[in-house]
Amino acid sequence: MSRFSSIYHQTVQFMAQKGLARVARGLQEGQPCILTFHGLREDSDPGLIDAELHTPVSVFRDICRHLSSRYRVCSLSALVDALQRRLPLPDGTVAITFDDGYASNYSLAYPILQEFNLPATLFVTSGFVDRTQSLWFHRMEYAYAHSPLRAEYAKAAAHLKALPQENLEEETAGLESKLGAKLRECDPTPAIFEPLTWNQIREMQASGLVEMGGHTQTHLILGRCGRETARREIQQSFERLAVETGVKPRLFAYPNGQPGDYTAETAELLAETGFTSAVTMSPGFVQPGTSLFEIPRYGAPMSVAETEATVSGAFETLKAWRLATREALAA
Ligand SMILES: [Zn+2]
Repeated sequence: MSRFSSIYHQTVQFMAQKGLARVARGLQEGQPCILTFHGLREDSDPGLIDAELHTPVSVFRDICRHLSSRYRVCSLSALVDALQRRLPLPDGTVAITFDDGYASNYSLAYPILQEFNLPATLFVTSGFVDRTQSLWFHRMEYAYAHSPLRAEYAKAAAHLKALPQENLEEETAGLESKLGAKLRECDPTPAIFEPLTWNQIREMQASGLVEMGGHTQTHLILGRCGRETARREIQQSFERLAVETGVKPRLFAYPNGQPGDYTAETAELLAETGFTSAVTMSPGFVQPGTSLFEIPRYGAPMSVAETEATVSGAFETLKAWRLATREALAA
């Protein structure tokens, strides 16, 4: 665990123990929020470099138990329906989402969702599930994890995210050659990088507990693509889901999801294609009047304490206090 990570986890523990979460829950009452998970991993699997992208299964189970005992968990589409129809947002509600389309969403997360009867939304990268596309950041993580330059992975990934996305394949292939490790030559594929199958997706969807949304065809960052590339990524994502599941998807998650990773033009292309809303990775609670194509989400909490600090609004309350104090001191 890094020094930052250790201080961070001590802070959330402190907030949970001192009851700040309880105070904040009162202040933020009635404001729903959305959590974003990616893959899960067995507790015994240490992952590669970006291990926090794959939540340990026991941590996920504890989080689900906590959410089901303290909060109401609703589907994202129910939340979006309320926003769209300007109905009062359901009180104290949390929506659970997963991005990318990992096999662990079926093998590890789905049984836990069933056990606690918690709905969830899976944002699927269709080319990943089609197995026509190894996700570029998996290739990068694998290559850096198997090279002496391991510590430089985060910097290299940030550099690639900022590039025009049309150059991504060439850049990734160049780095794989330079580092001398290729994910596609690894057999078997590391469990954390296994995609879902369409059969697993259909089975989960048929249960009524899990709904599917789009996340592009190849996980390009749409705000850094030309218009035609972005249109193709969105259309293919919509069509592959509609064909394979028999249901036209309405929900979409922007890859990377930070401001600049999508634009007003991206939202226009989504609406033209048939998507009715999109979620970002900007943290925040869903408020009446939140734009349907810019719905905020929190990242995956890594403990029950962090879940409570996030969902109760303790983090937001702390942020607001800090801002108010700074402004008062500056006045
Ligand atoms: Zn993603």
